[in-house]
Amino acid sequence: MTAELTGLRAVVTGGASGIGLATSRLLAERGARVAALDLDPSGCLPPLTGLKADVGDDASVRAAVEEAAAALNGIDILVNNAGIGATGTVADNPDEQWRKVFDINVLGVVRVTRAALPHLRRSSHAAIVNTCSIAATAGLPQRALYSATKGAVLSLTLAMAADHVREGVRVNCVNPGTVDTPWVGRLLDAAEDPAAERAALGARQPHGRLVTAEEVAAAIVYLAGPAAGSVTGTALAVDGGMAGLRLRPVGA
Ligand code: NAD
Repeated sequence: MTAELTGLRAVVTGGASGIGLATSRLLAERGARVAALDLDPSGCLPPLTGLKADVGDDASVRAAVEEAAAALNGIDILVNNAGIGATGTVADNPDEQWRKVFDINVLGVVRVTRAALPHLRRSSHAAIVNTCSIAATAGLPQRALYSATKGAVLSLTLAMAADHVREGVRVNCVNPGTVDTPWVGRLLDAAEDPAAERAALGARQPHGRLVTAEEVAAAIVYLAGPAAGSVTGTALAVDGGMAGLRLRPVGA
């Protein structure tokens, strides 16, 4: 049997770690050829093609997207996944940090999409999936700057979906809850009591644990693939029920 994504060519930003690496691997497992663009692509082993790129730098993005398109002979799928975090209330982060996190999390999506669109327009199966966050749809404490960037990614996803639907380019996003990736590992390591912090983050999600990178990858690959041919302008939550459910406390 031919794999679902055989013949398709995919670019994944931030594809060398966490959600991006799990997505790159699953796309490849399902038959796609995959170029992973990352600041440090050393985590990308064959069959993935790892390319060094900084989504914060337009020249770097254009060069890497062209290199990916040449290596894969075109682009059908773009996963805008690279992102960075920030903690604090609205009072805590200096202007420079606001600019930096917006530059990577929002303008990064703009730069890579802009460079990839000419290739996507030539594809008969064109799909973009953005990695957004539960932080776009729920108020989380100490995440003012990060949440603002992900709110922008959600709105940008909808606007892009409207602009490009008639060109045959679908655009969707995933909204993960807290995912067990190296990123969250770094946050836990910095906590006073990492085990207690992990338990608290797990308990915040109704299914009682952290989401896995593979679960988010499965949602991204669904939205990127032909089975989602009529799905555009949606946000798919992968958050153990965190965005939508209101449970009674255990025992109540
Ligand atoms: P991660 O840190 O494990 O991986 C992120 C990857 O992006 C790294 O390989 C890093 O090198 C790369 N990257 C960072 N800045 C880059 C840049 N300027 N140019 C190119 N590559 C760059 O993180 P993750 O947890 O897998 O997060 C991936 C995405 O998922 C992010 O957009 C994040 O906001 C989002 N997300 C994560 C969680 C979570 O709980 N982990 C939850 C919701 C959303």
